[in-house]
Amino acid sequence: MEFLSKRIAGLSESQTMAMNQKSKDLQAQGIDIINLSVGEPDFFTPDHIKEAGKKAIDDNFSFYSPAEGYMDLRQAVAKKFKVENGLEYTPQQIIVSNGAKHSLANAILSLVDDGDEVIVPAPYWVTYVELVKLAGGVNVVIRTLPEHSYKLTPAELEQAITPKTKALLLCSPSNPTGSVYSKAELKALADVLLRHPGIFVIADEIYEHINFVGGHESIAQFEGMLERTVVINGVSKAYAMTGYRIGYMAGPLWLAKACGKLQGQFTSGPSSIAQRAAYACLTMDASFTREMNVAFRRRRDLVMEGLSRIQGLTCVRPDGAFYVFPDVSSFFGKSDGKITVKNDTDVSLYLLDQAHVSTVPGDGFGEPNCIRLSYATSDEKLVRAMEALKTAFDRLR
Ligand code: PMP
Ligand code: GLU
Repeated sequence: MEFLSKRIAGLSESQTMAMNQKSKDLQAQGIDIINLSVGEPDFFTPDHIKEAGKKAIDDNFSFYSPAEGYMDLRQAVAKKFKVENGLEYTPQQIIVSNGAKHSLANAILSLVDDGDEVIVPAPYWVTYVELVKLAGGVNVVIRTLPEHSYKLTPAELEQAITPKTKALLLCSPSNPTGSVYSKAELKALADVLLRHPGIFVIADEIYEHINFVGGHESIAQFEGMLERTVVINGVSKAYAMTGYRIGYMAGPLWLAKACGKLQGQFTSGPSSIAQRAAYACLTMDASFTREMNVAFRRRRDLVMEGLSRIQGLTCVRPDGAFYVFPDVSSFFGKSDGKITVKNDTDVSLYLLDQAHVSTVPGDGFGEPNCIRLSYATSDEKLVRAMEALKTAFDRLR
């Protein structure tokens, strides 16, 4: 232990991963846990993507790919950005990595120096603040409000900017709140940023396709922002390929080159086989994602209806991703006669123990009044989970 670097010793474990593992361990002991902790689509990868992966094995894609990813895949990603987002990138501006998480790590390590401030609106996805810490940066967390659907306002952004601000992390649709920024909201944030030329934006758009407002907007679209934004995306969520580990970034050439260099020293290119499978999904039609979207929207409604029947709990209605992030703070200090729940972690553990439903405490997302539930599971399990949650919450007095 005394040999551990300070850099790693100071890193927190991913709470989403930890709660998922806890649920799996309990399931392995024969306990029927409904796992609403980790966020990953419960769908299987579409057949023709699987076929592309199998074919890659047969076609001997067993050698190193370029560190930046295969050129035809980078071309397909550049085309996706042009067609779907109206963003113009050359393939050289695209770097394919081992999941969007890795793309984020590359971008943050390439941008952030010791002492640089990074503005992170909370609730945030657990990994952002840890990656900023790893890079030696300072997280400037802004606690956004439920009355603004947990979206950062231009005034909040302006107030957080200092001469040391290097970057802003923005996630839309958001994990954990499911909030989706409109074009006007992004434009208002861009207007603030355009007055501060030293700030770069890291835009995490991994949930682009899981969106119930009819369309996705990127902050990179506004004049002057493309040069100052790195867009992070990938195939994990849109194509139900979380285990394949393929994500990508698009940004200015200098940043893409830096991320390529980092990747060349750190991981080399991502799995050749997974890249061939990803190529197949980027060149297929959108019917699979559309169907998945329909299912997620139905489940969102089902879960929101279930939560609305639990007295004392409030929840902002999500417009995208597959999470709900209810405020459970009115239960703090209450007891079922045996267990008193004092905070979000206690609530999460109480629900795991008493309702056999696993959730993630909000603390790891920078909002300790809430807990996160992922509704990327079957309708049947969600119905059971909502009943069990109601029974468990109703017992707290
Ligand atoms: N960003 C957000 C907001 C996420 O929820 C996830 C899912 N873990 C990721 C990035 C990383 O995705 P990937 O599985 O492609 O690494
Ligand atoms: N996006 C998922 C989540 O937030 C995956 C877990 C992770 O990568 O941390 O639950």
